Amino acid sequence: MASVLISGAGPIGLTMANELARYGVSVRIVDKAAARTDKSKALVLWPRTLELLRHGGYVEPFLKAGTVAHGAQLSDGKNIVARVTMDGIDTAYPYALMIAQSETERVLEETLASRGVKVERSVSMESFSEKSTGGIEAVLRKADGKSETVQADWLLGCDGAHSTTRHALGFTFEGSTQDSDWYLADVHVTGLEPTDILHIFWHRDGILAFFPITAGRWRVIADLGPATGTAHHADPTLEEIQAMVAHRGNPGIKLKEPVWLAAFRINERKVKDYCRGRVFLAGDAAHIHSPAGGQGMNTGMQDAFNLAWKLNLVIKGVAKPSLLDSYSTERSAVGEMVLSNAGRMTEAAIARNPVIQSLRNAMVKFALSFPQIGHVMADTLSELNIAYPKSPLSVAGAQHAHGPMPGHRWPEPIAADTGKSRFMAIGPADAVADLVAKFPNLVEPANGAKRADARDLTLVRPDGYVGFAGAASDRAEAEAYLRTIAA
Ligand SMILES: Cc1cc2nc3c(=O)[nH]c(=O)nc-3n(C[C@H](O)[C@H](O)[C@H](O)COP(=O)(O)OP(=O)(O)OC[C@H]3O[C@@H](n4cnc5c(N)ncnc54)[C@H](O)[C@@H]3O)c2cc1C
Repeated sequence: MASVLISGAGPIGLTMANELARYGVSVRIVDKAAARTDKSKALVLWPRTLELLRHGGYVEPFLKAGTVAHGAQLSDGKNIVARVTMDGIDTAYPYALMIAQSETERVLEETLASRGVKVERSVSMESFSEKSTGGIEAVLRKADGKSETVQADWLLGCDGAHSTTRHALGFTFEGSTQDSDWYLADVHVTGLEPTDILHIFWHRDGILAFFPITAGRWRVIADLGPATGTAHHADPTLEEIQAMVAHRGNPGIKLKEPVWLAAFRINERKVKDYCRGRVFLAGDAAHIHSPAGGQGMNTGMQDAFNLAWKLNLVIKGVAKPSLLDSYSTERSAVGEMVLSNAGRMTEAAIARNPVIQSLRNAMVKFALSFPQIGHVMADTLSELNIAYPKSPLSVAGAQHAHGPMPGHRWPEPIAADTGKSRFMAIGPADAVADLVAKFPNLVEPANGAKRADARDLTLVRPDGYVGFAGAASDRAEAEAYLRTIAA
């Protein structure tokens, strides 16, 4: 019997399976589709996601498969309104890694296979129940129509926007479908320079944006204005997109060899709670929103990084089950924030009123003339400023700490072993040794914390966020913090 059953092998289910497998948790992952997606869909891996993949020991194949974009250029069709650069942000990966979702899924699935776990395809999870004796009983349906009843200790619903798991839990997917239509083209492009940035045209008739995928291949998106009726727009032809590019962008930009042409509408929805009992939701099953900012898949993958170490510690009997309560608290707050940022960006982008457009362009030009505002924007997009300050897992010592505050990201890699989920202790050697001796399965000494402040005692969570931050003298408080977590 697998300890964890994962329904859905999109990018989120695959990340979840990889994280659990590297901790040595037994996992079974099923997907109703016969093959993984061949579509480019989510195109960007942001720096924080890359840091978390490095933490897990599998960032290299992504870096090899992707290309680097250093920033974005906004123009109104005639003049450049603003430039945003990611150069200089505080990370080993100061860029957007452009990589088609089909490639992201390929790398994740191959990494998972190297860890001994194979995705079971054409297997649909039809229903499940939580047993009174603990654990889950789920019914799987295979391609030949036969069903299998399986037992697991935990169920992770990573089954996308139409999640069977979410429906079965009866959770409301609160939000709305926006009443504007969009075109999408994954296509080969010439005449667009430079090729290592995103190009966004804020034309008076609507937005047109280009995102580099691989050499010569770009994602083009354009909004078509308010939807007429409930019927979805038909998929565009290459000629329609080319005409729009000539009108809103630049006639010198030529499109050819389309890979994917589609029309879509934006949904903005989220569940309130991400779990009930032994069942958890992650990724699109829990939150969907505008692709503006390219945060959807990254937010989902970070749901997985957040949950996997907690589940591992509980499964291994190292932590109390109450540790898992923080998953919904932390990730639901992040989901709210991402949803509202993406919504604001979309509204600004699709403004049609000429007065509002001029005001928007002037404000953005003015704001981005201040480097600090550009940095804040880059930190938000890169997801480096995601933090859990209000989480029950974020605790301050009795005395003031000088380094990163509880809930904030520790800015460098400090785990010695990617196969363990332990808190890393940073502080006076005797205090660290004492905590490691008292909680040998929960704490280890940090590996070369160059950014540490000698006046502090800090406990960094296995996902790289500060759990406890106090002064070097706050040993009793650090110990009390760990006692609330330890089984
Ligand atoms: C046209 C389009 C463009 C997009 N562009 C962007 C973008 O630019 N940036 C961005 O961040 N995001 C974008 N997205 C969103 C992004 O693709 C999703 O956020 C991402 O795929 C979410 O991953 P997931 O694993 O949660 O869900 P999914 O990728 O939907 O994967 C869910 C998996 O679960 C499987 N499944 C479903 N039900 C069951 C069941 N009952 N039993 C077993 N398996 C099941 C499905 O077959 C699927 O493989 C785009 C999406 C679309 C459709």
